[in-house]
Amino acid sequence: MKNLTPHQISIRASLVIAVAYTLLSWVSLSNPTKLVIVFHFGLVFVISFLVMRYTIGHFIYRKIKLIYKTIQKEKSKKLEKKEETSSIIHEDLMARVNMDVQAWADSQRQEIDRLVADEQYRKEFLGNVSHELKTPIFNIQGYILTLLEGGLEDESINRDYLQRADKSVDRLIHIVEDLETISQLEAGHLELDMDKFDVVALTRDILKSQELVARDSSITLGFKDHDEKPREAMADKERIRQVITNLIVNSIRYGKKGGQTEVRFYDMDENWLVEISDDGIGIPKKHLPRIFERFFRVDKSRSRERGGTGLGLSIVKHIIEAHGQTINVRSTEGVGSTFSFTLEKAKERPSNQRFRKTSTSPS
Ligand code: ADP
Repeated sequence: MKNLTPHQISIRASLVIAVAYTLLSWVSLSNPTKLVIVFHFGLVFVISFLVMRYTIGHFIYRKIKLIYKTIQKEKSKKLEKKEETSSIIHEDLMARVNMDVQAWADSQRQEIDRLVADEQYRKEFLGNVSHELKTPIFNIQGYILTLLEGGLEDESINRDYLQRADKSVDRLIHIVEDLETISQLEAGHLELDMDKFDVVALTRDILKSQELVARDSSITLGFKDHDEKPREAMADKERIRQVITNLIVNSIRYGKKGGQTEVRFYDMDENWLVEISDDGIGIPKKHLPRIFERFFRVDKSRSRERGGTGLGLSIVKHIIEAHGQTINVRSTEGVGSTFSFTLEKAKERPSNQRFRKTSTSPS
């Protein structure tokens, strides 16, 4: 009986009614002739067929048609297949209705799941943001109160407390800047200023700028096998500077005293693969799948103590994905970590190559 048209349903039901009625009249009438039996069968069949067809058509069928039209309207908003509706309605409507209602229910369920996940993310995000902001704000409040309650006149602490408050303000600014970047990236539109540049020269600049910080932890920074051959890439240079800086800063932040950070490039036909390796504390295997999530940190106190916001890697991933490229991590706890990402090679084109690209970053 599955997926029958109203016409087929009417014929089958009328047949059953006509056979039942004919059998009854056969038993109740004394010696009915064949002609009477056939006449009864035919008459009952025709009448019940007409009644069924009318009832299904006018009451049930019309109601289903209405529901179907509503679903089709929703669908056509997305698919723009309006003209299909009228022709389908006269065809195998039941089968189509069944299929479409299923598909519609599935899409509604998925939409609800997505909204629930979004809501959960919003709650977590707000919780994380307020938690991150609380520490520096309370620190600043503490220093100011101490200064107000007499510390201002105490030469041994006044300058020190002001400097500490200033450090906490810097931290607040850092958090807010990272939050701003992430909200821009997650809004989906990242304007990329695509240009041709030498990614090795850019990396050299960044390594130089981080030398002092690295020296504090006795970490050496450099290129693997001293390979500094130029490599031309096509990307947004400033965004890629942000990516490489973040990965190098992390390699120092989570590196070990006397360790080293090395940058290496691989030729992958259309792309360059950039690898940044350290021999630091590494990341436990169970945490690797979550490492690019916002606010995810393996060791919260070590991260905060060294000025981390927990947003760096998620910003890095957004930027790389906005370029249509990929980023990966390999790491062994206690041995070290390697972050690698791809960049499009610049094609050999003599003309001015600069162009803007608006990318919708996947979230
Ligand atoms: P943070 O500001 O905390 O450094 P990130 O998003 O940059 O935030 O990194 C997230 C977490 O990933 C860090 O807190 C740290 O636990 C881990 N991590 C990142 N890079 C490294 C690395 N090179 N070695 C070990 N752990 C790392």
